Amino acid sequence: MKPFLLVFLSLYWQLSLAQKLSIGLYTSSTVKEFQFVVASGNYLLHAILPDGTSYSAKLAAQSQGKFKMNGAMVQYFQGGTYRFEAIKFELLQLAQEDFCNWSVPTLSTKTRAYEGDFEVRIYKSNLQLVNLVDLQTYLEGVVACEGGPGHQKPYYQAQAVISRTYALNNLKRHQKDGYELCERTHCQAYLHKRTGTALIDSAVHQTKDVVLLNEEGKYFPTFFHANCGGQTCEPQDIWNEQIIGLTTFKDTFCVHTKQATWVKSIPLQTWTTFLVKNYGFPIKDSLSYSLLQAFKQPFRSAFYLHPVYGIPLRDLREEFKLKSTFFDAVIEGQEVVLYGRGFGHGVGLCQEGAMQMAKKGYSFDQILLFYYPGARLFVPTP
Ligand SMILES: [Zn+2]
Ligand SMILES: [Zn+2]
Repeated sequence: MKPFLLVFLSLYWQLSLAQKLSIGLYTSSTVKEFQFVVASGNYLLHAILPDGTSYSAKLAAQSQGKFKMNGAMVQYFQGGTYRFEAIKFELLQLAQEDFCNWSVPTLSTKTRAYEGDFEVRIYKSNLQLVNLVDLQTYLEGVVACEGGPGHQKPYYQAQAVISRTYALNNLKRHQKDGYELCERTHCQAYLHKRTGTALIDSAVHQTKDVVLLNEEGKYFPTFFHANCGGQTCEPQDIWNEQIIGLTTFKDTFCVHTKQATWVKSIPLQTWTTFLVKNYGFPIKDSLSYSLLQAFKQPFRSAFYLHPVYGIPLRDLREEFKLKSTFFDAVIEGQEVVLYGRGFGHGVGLCQEGAMQMAKKGYSFDQILLFYYPGARLFVPTP
């Protein structure tokens, strides 16, 4: 590799890095090796060496490399050949829209394309890949991943505003992990760069700097989910804490959409064993047993059967991997059949409802204020 020192560029990069978000990638797995291809444009490879010096080299389009963990060091391979090891590597894009394709040989996940800069380093004995990306580019990826294709612009605009607010409100969520946000739905889905869909990109652009605030002028807690099933959920029932500005209400926009209903059968024995073992459910008591025959939820409840048994619906959702807590349950033969509504935790904005509102001609601010009645829209003056 041809080393060259770039004092001026290094200062420039430090300044530009400071304004970017840091997003952890492949955060659900322990990874020992990352592979990359410079898919478009040129990148600058920058290495921090053990003796405190640094090396830089330009990587042209289609350059391939990999990073491997070696104790506390990161080894760099170019085109399959080992080159050297460093404390940390940075891959810095030389022009906006340059991007790299990343893959992990031990994972079956597809190659993921991301724009922006990257850091590969050892953090708490793990090999870590972090994407440094400006907020707008990140949001174009998030809106594409969270919303998918084929919707009207007001929905994408609403999604951009809530995802922007969520990101800015959660920059310390992964402080202990060494980055600001993860790429999973734990924070917001960011499984690839923007798709280049003009509608999505312009929705993010047109709402630049627009966020939702609460009465105190702080970022509003913009929780969202796929489908509420006709009624949003009280945060208390899901997370055991009240969240100011969020409460339960009826939503008729989502009831005929694709994830509005679901059915799942569970062996009766498995179901009752769980109830008896974890909550001491009095299975031999005839009145209690008769309640099991048919549980109805015309409106969202926090507990299964009756609060007196202390069986939170959120526990059943987690244990049996249910799409939602909003279900009726009836015994049919040797099975409990669950007839459910909605998909997700149900708190805050219902995405499929918001998509329907956009289809019916509502504007993005009308959508946002319907789902977050306690919020106000902050639109910066140019
Ligand atoms: Zn996260
Ligand atoms: Zn809904």
